[in-house]
Amino acid sequence: MLFIRRKIGRKFLLAVGVVLLAILAGMHHLYSTHAREIIQRLNEQARGEQIHGIIAGMKAIMMAGHAELAQEYADRLKQTPGLVDLHILRTNGLEAFLDNQTIEAVNFRRNRTLFQPRDDEEERRILPEARLAFLQQTPRPEMFRSFERSREGEPLETFLIAISNDRDCHYCHDKEDAVRGVVMLTTSLASMESAIAETNLKSARFLAIAMVFLLVLLFLILRNTVLQPIQRVEAAMSRVAEGDLAHKVEVRGEDELAHIALTFNDMARQLERTHNGIQQERNKLTTIILSAREGIIITDGQGQVVLVNPAAERLLGKTDEQIIGQGFVNILDDPEFVQVMLENSGINMPDTVVYNEKVLNIHAARIFTGEGVLLGNAALLRDVTEEKKLENELRQLSYTDKLTGLFNRRRLDELLQQEFMRCHRYGVQMSLLLFDVDHFKKFNDQYGHDQGDRVLQAIGRTMAQFFRKTDFPCRYGGEEFCVVLPGIPNDATGMGPHQVADRFRQTVEALEIDGLKVTISIGVSHFINGRYASAEEMIKDADKALYQAKAQGRNRVVSAVGTPEAATFSRESHGLVVNA
Ligand code: GH3
Ligand code: MG
Ligand code: MG
Repeated sequence: MLFIRRKIGRKFLLAVGVVLLAILAGMHHLYSTHAREIIQRLNEQARGEQIHGIIAGMKAIMMAGHAELAQEYADRLKQTPGLVDLHILRTNGLEAFLDNQTIEAVNFRRNRTLFQPRDDEEERRILPEARLAFLQQTPRPEMFRSFERSREGEPLETFLIAISNDRDCHYCHDKEDAVRGVVMLTTSLASMESAIAETNLKSARFLAIAMVFLLVLLFLILRNTVLQPIQRVEAAMSRVAEGDLAHKVEVRGEDELAHIALTFNDMARQLERTHNGIQQERNKLTTIILSAREGIIITDGQGQVVLVNPAAERLLGKTDEQIIGQGFVNILDDPEFVQVMLENSGINMPDTVVYNEKVLNIHAARIFTGEGVLLGNAALLRDVTEEKKLENELRQLSYTDKLTGLFNRRRLDELLQQEFMRCHRYGVQMSLLLFDVDHFKKFNDQYGHDQGDRVLQAIGRTMAQFFRKTDFPCRYGGEEFCVVLPGIPNDATGMGPHQVADRFRQTVEALEIDGLKVTISIGVSHFINGRYASAEEMIKDADKALYQAKAQGRNRVVSAVGTPEAATFSRESHGLVVNA
């Protein structure tokens, strides 16, 4: 973070520095170019005036008739400071005033010896004739300039200015020539160059100082208004990121950065509130988990157990160190079971297991984030031993007849359905006895209802003792009873259902209850493949047989058709005829 912060300031200053440098360099260039132009123009103007002065001086000497002094005048002018060279030239580039050519022409023109010819004539070429070609141009330039450097490297500027053939000159010279001669003046530009260089240097020095000053000023402004506020927010962010949610940024001023600091403080406050809320919820949840009666075991995303509550220790009979050490899948010492439960979320699996002498309800599942990332596994264990016991007792109660302790009608229906299906599917045998106490109304009337109840209880006890463990004795309703006899063969050999029924009838007949006796009539039906479409039809057949037993005088057994032994009745001959 610190690195990034430093970089922002540096980058900004670098960018501004480059822009400033470009602007200042441009300004410097403009200024120095302009200064050079001004200095050059002034120099040029000064030289022009100087030359015109020379020409005027020259003409004045000539007019006064002292042409012989012109060369001396030129030689003296050479002493002028800044002047490197000065020549008065003829238009062909030869130095003037060295031969008698002009003196003779003037004397001839004036027809007298106006000027004394020289004794020593000389021809000195100062410039090639081609350099004076500008004199032939129309319009003729007033001045011709050229630049060069001396052998020592000194910058030189040479001016060539024509001496016009004015009216004043015509006294001595022909008026045909437009130009009488040329003044050639060479000056040194060294002082001008050094003036320009000095100006440039001053300008550059000033601009460099300005740039440093601007950069320092900019840095101070940047540091106070941008960098420091950003650093304060960044430092606060770091502290909040490290967990100090109560930390706030100091807000200074009212600019955008102050607004950012304010917004950050609001965010931190919000975060703190949310964090505290989550913390409270977590504490509540931890308290609930630790005090829960259900065992809770939680792992992290790598499957390492991270939470075991006391209930889990108690239910599994293990310490939390043992549970953590053995791992999540070994909580029930059956890793495969837990693994499969985790993989298919417990679908098609028993939700209870017997472990540590308890019946435990278990639910194990994987916990994922909304994006599908595994957060961990969780197991919830509940001791349902008592519940299961109660459930069984309740089931037992709901299946039991209160008075006799036999199975009740509801249980009979279930059992009969179940056994009927077995017969259908596997071809095993089954019989049904349906019996009714004879003249019981009368018995009640005679001995009272309570006595009647005791008789019914005694019949129940007798049934429980008489029939096999695999049979199902039930109270059908009132003083009617029913017995399902699974697997009993229905043939002439051995003990068939009819014989069993008759032996039971005799047992009841022999029974003495409080010195009183009762008899019963029994109807028997037997499962015959293809005869019965439902268990209800079997009951109906037994009921019809019972009806026959009553009709035939009571205290007897009647079996429906297909039940061999003793009396049977035929369904075919209007259903109720007994085959004796
Ligand atoms: P039948 O030989 O034709 O069966 O004559 P019955 O008098 O037994 O006639 P029925 O079966 O129609 O009468 C049933 C009587 O059984 C009526 C009722 O008083 C008596 N009873 C039914 N349920 C109970 C009971 O739970 N306790 C007592 N004490 N009597 C009952
Ligand atoms: Mg009855
Ligand atoms: Mg009866």
